[in-house]
Amino acid sequence: KVRTTDVVVIGAGAAGMMCAATAGARGREVVLIDHAEKLAEKIRISGGGRCNFTNLHVRPECYLSRNPHYCKSALARYTQHDFLKMMERYGLGWHEKTLGQLFCDQGSGAIIDMLKAEVDAGGATWRMNTPVTAVGRLGEGFEVVTPEETWHCASLVIASGGLSIPQIGATAFGYELARQFGLEIVATTPALVPLTFQPQDLWDELAGVAVEDAIVSTGKTHFREAILLTHRGVSGPAILQISSYWQPGQPIVIDLLPERGLADALAGASRDALLVNVLGDIVPKRLAQAIVATLGENRPLKQYTPKALQQLEDRLKRWQVVPSGTVGYKKAEVTCGGVDTAGLDSRSMMARQVPGLFFIGEVVDVTGWLGGYNFQWAWSSGFVAGSAA
Ligand code: FAD
Repeated sequence: KVRTTDVVVIGAGAAGMMCAATAGARGREVVLIDHAEKLAEKIRISGGGRCNFTNLHVRPECYLSRNPHYCKSALARYTQHDFLKMMERYGLGWHEKTLGQLFCDQGSGAIIDMLKAEVDAGGATWRMNTPVTAVGRLGEGFEVVTPEETWHCASLVIASGGLSIPQIGATAFGYELARQFGLEIVATTPALVPLTFQPQDLWDELAGVAVEDAIVSTGKTHFREAILLTHRGVSGPAILQISSYWQPGQPIVIDLLPERGLADALAGASRDALLVNVLGDIVPKRLAQAIVATLGENRPLKQYTPKALQQLEDRLKRWQVVPSGTVGYKKAEVTCGGVDTAGLDSRSMMARQVPGLFFIGEVVDVTGWLGGYNFQWAWSSGFVAGSAA
């Protein structure tokens, strides 16, 4: 059966729902297609079920892209405060956890319900559980083929997301479609993802040990937050952040004593106390034991020469390791890279060479930091495309 509509949005996730709601509110006839059975599973599992839906400190510098300017226009047109206003209208509450990260008091399901209600208010037609089997150009518009219906539309919005968590329906659909229409793809990699170490660098016995305050750097980029040692390498917020910047083959450097030297940290310690005990007061005890074990001796502090303490400080403040890789898309929160923004107009998200074709959300080469930045990109880019489609 052939049907006609103004706008087809493929992908009913964060960006797709925002776009469908915005276009619908303008009076556009919208069809929202998703192959998943359940609506917006990524929002549901986000932020441990609480959805870290935005960040108070959203700014363009918190996004990675081949063109770091691309995200500016959309982020300025639909801000974190605009999203908060929508939540207010629905009576939803929020709280800041840390570093400007805002979580929904009523949980991620409430965010999904709100977006669904916004889409419904705009009058869009839902097609969940519906795969797209082909897309083609049809005159000035597009033809979108699904098993039961073929849609003819003037505007086509691709909001199919990235490759992370294939278990809940992530596919390469958006990248393939972009290539079909002649757009370039910036190579994709898993991001916001735990790093793995070579066997010789692994501290398997320390799996589960967390250091609450560490600085992790690669090149000129650094993040200061907690890290977590794992069976395969290292995780925790500072590591997830740095993973988006880390290049294979490059080292990362971990500082376990931010903003202080070992001498400072040991200033109040008894000179007669064993090293493992004084060290256990400044880093987690299991980590202290492991470090002292590698020194091969555990003597009273006063018996260590300045040179030996210097070496110990190097271990604590400049722990350098070349990760073997990441744990991959199965555990990555997002996908770095994607549809090259060089082919897109930052004011509308429309493909420059293919009028009427839009790309929004994670499928685009715009990747936010950990902490609500990726959802904000989905809201902002969805709003902008929904205002133009
Ligand atoms: P998605 O929300 O992934 O939506 C894409 C939709 O397209 C899906 O519904 C999918 O079923 C559909 N689709 C895919 N392929 C096809 C196809 N071939 N045909 C039809 N439909 C298709 N970000 C934050 O800012 N804060 C957080 O707290 C946070 N927590 C996260 C936790 C986890 C575990 C993960 C994996 C991610 C988290 N993120 C978080 C990232 C955030 O979820 C994504 O950046 C965001 O969902 C991207 O929105 P999107 O609309 O582009 O894609």
